[in-house]
Amino acid sequence: MTGSLLVDNIGELVTNVAGEGEGGPLGIRHHAAVLVEAGRVAWIGPTRYAPAADRRIDAEGAAVLPGFVDSHAHLVFAGDRAAEFAARMSGQPYTGGGIRTTVGATRAASDDELRATVRRLRVEAMRQGTTTIEIKSGYGLTVADEARSLRIATEFTEETTFLGAHVVPAEYADRPDDYVGMVCGPMLAAAAPYARWIDVFCERGAFDVDHARAILACGQAVGLGVRLHANQLGPGPGVQLGVELGAASVDHCTHLTDADIEALASTATEDGGTATVATLLPGAEFSTRSPYPDARRLLDAGVTVALATDCNPGSSYTSSMPFCLALAVREMRMTPAEAVWAATAGGAAALRRDDIGRLRPGAPADLMILDAPSHLHLAYRPGVPLIRQVLHNGVPQCRP
Ligand SMILES: [Zn+2]
Repeated sequence: MTGSLLVDNIGELVTNVAGEGEGGPLGIRHHAAVLVEAGRVAWIGPTRYAPAADRRIDAEGAAVLPGFVDSHAHLVFAGDRAAEFAARMSGQPYTGGGIRTTVGATRAASDDELRATVRRLRVEAMRQGTTTIEIKSGYGLTVADEARSLRIATEFTEETTFLGAHVVPAEYADRPDDYVGMVCGPMLAAAAPYARWIDVFCERGAFDVDHARAILACGQAVGLGVRLHANQLGPGPGVQLGVELGAASVDHCTHLTDADIEALASTATEDGGTATVATLLPGAEFSTRSPYPDARRLLDAGVTVALATDCNPGSSYTSSMPFCLALAVREMRMTPAEAVWAATAGGAAALRRDDIGRLRPGAPADLMILDAPSHLHLAYRPGVPLIRQVLHNGVPQCRP
């Protein structure tokens, strides 16, 4: 789409540029307009001073926010696990073992079937305001299936993550060392050309800390950034391993000791955040009926917090950032403003991106227009489809 586009009559514009207007880190402007040219924000200012443009969207006094940055999602899979969810809701505990069910279905699926699922979920997420999404492999667990999962993921996002160490597949159940050797060897070699990140599910029943360290170090050696699943099902060494390796993010963080929080806080940077972000995934606690992480402890210690969906067919089959944001406010002691920041700029920090998650001249024009006057409504009106329009690289996604 060519030509300029003006979004004006914005009642409340959340920029996430601290010091811009009011609202602290949210950088809120009122009666604002955003000019988009060539897919990027070209100008932000008061509606009454807005320049002319080829096209116009009248926000009619509504709130406009940066698009959500969902920094943790598993979209390349086949089948679903609705029956497992029903069993869990009937009282069976979640152990992570159901991942192998999805591995079987994923291996049996064609490329086009996998691609169709990713496309469907990507559209679903976009309609709910997500303009950037990270996509992991991890349901192939063979050299060929991990490589093709990532190849398909690259058709939908730049933020692709190699998660060959999701679970030890059944055929390696009695020789996990051999599996780790394979992940670090031929699987990594086949996956790395399609991946920006490497991730490990470091948890009892998945990979222990020595295996996780070995795998992440191999990924780092070929230039991949580190992130990991840690401290989801119980206390463990994952968070401190992430800090040790300079991870961009440690994800889940449901069971943290004071030492874990101190380790995260020790990665403080000059801009007031932390180099290692704690990414919280409340959809997983919701869908496994588990205690939620305590975001307040992290925030009070100065740790940068991100919110993401963990969208996957087993433990969190939601693509909805607004849903996760509402859970974070209701159950995790975040304020609505903290949750909005964590779901946008926080997600960007978890991906080590400073170009997205904020609205300022030069940034990609990734934004959402709400059917509501304020960002507060995202948590205040849970379950309501409040997102009227989404621009991704300046292109309207929902309806003209
Ligand atoms: Zn996950």
